[in-house]
Amino acid sequence: MSKLACKCGHVMVARTMEEDFLYEIIPQKVIIQLLNEWDEKDTAFTSDDFFDYYNQFRQDVYKCPSCGRVIIENEPRANKFSFYAKEL
Ligand SMILES: [Zn+2]
Repeated sequence: MSKLACKCGHVMVARTMEEDFLYEIIPQKVIIQLLNEWDEKDTAFTSDDFFDYYNQFRQDVYKCPSCGRVIIENEPRANKFSFYAKEL
């Protein structure tokens, strides 16, 4: 379980990791690399292979359901976050 408090005061608690406020970002080049590797290895490319590589580069993202701020982990596994509010 992880939780993160937004600047607006709303606290997001992730219990199942299927909450609607949870996202991830990953560099596009990493996705392309994964797709190329999958294409080359076909059935020898497993979901473990996918996540071993993917998890090295993913950054956690929270989208606050109360104010709409997007909160992005500063770098993979940093567990430190930057907050971005929508410009009006
Ligand atoms: Zn908020």
